[in-house]
Amino acid sequence: MKEDLKIGVLSIQGDIEENILSCRAALNESGVTGEVVKVKNYEEILDVDGLIIPGGESTVISILMSLNQSNWELLNQRIVEGLPVLATCAGMILLANRVQDKTIGETKQKLLKNLDITVERNAFGRQHESFETDLNIPMIGEKPFKAVFIRGPVVKEAGKDVKTIAKYNNKIVAVQQNNIIGTSFHPELTEDNRIHVYFIKSILKNKEKLNENKVK
Ligand code: GLN
Repeated sequence: MKEDLKIGVLSIQGDIEENILSCRAALNESGVTGEVVKVKNYEEILDVDGLIIPGGESTVISILMSLNQSNWELLNQRIVEGLPVLATCAGMILLANRVQDKTIGETKQKLLKNLDITVERNAFGRQHESFETDLNIPMIGEKPFKAVFIRGPVVKEAGKDVKTIAKYNNKIVAVQQNNIIGTSFHPELTEDNRIHVYFIKSILKNKEKLNENKVK
């Protein structure tokens, strides 16, 4: 299959390089041509077919990102208009409607609010309580996915348009709402690129839809 995709990784803070590498590997595995680029400024946000918002520290990403109001608004507008997004860990927190924390309750951090979920930050404990586990994620196939959790959030409530993609110990840890995929774990930290491959397929579908609309 030949397609020239431009996939961006929001490059403010967090697992930027790891996502670039996983996404390039996933393009290769899918037989799709394209490039994976760092995205930070207005023109770059405008120019991509899909965007990864990496894990890291959601408070830092939101403070630094919202320093430039027009970038923040453009990012929000592009997601509302259907830009495919893969948001992992801190990325999913940034997109949530509401964020809570066990100790302080509702956090005051600035959120994009494109994803109709309530998340609890650091729901599995601190950095030293990070862990790996095999998850069953039917949409990417039968083989379990080794998921790496690092101070990950859980989804405590999800709106009616939000599909649960994966659960761990009965807690929701991956969701999809239309163009947005959110995970509590870090798919870029394993050799298994199936989540990135799935994301690339969703970008292709969206591109097809955009092209059809152009023809009409
Ligand atoms: N606990 C972090 C936050 O609230 C997320 C951790 C991560 O992305 N690995 O932003």
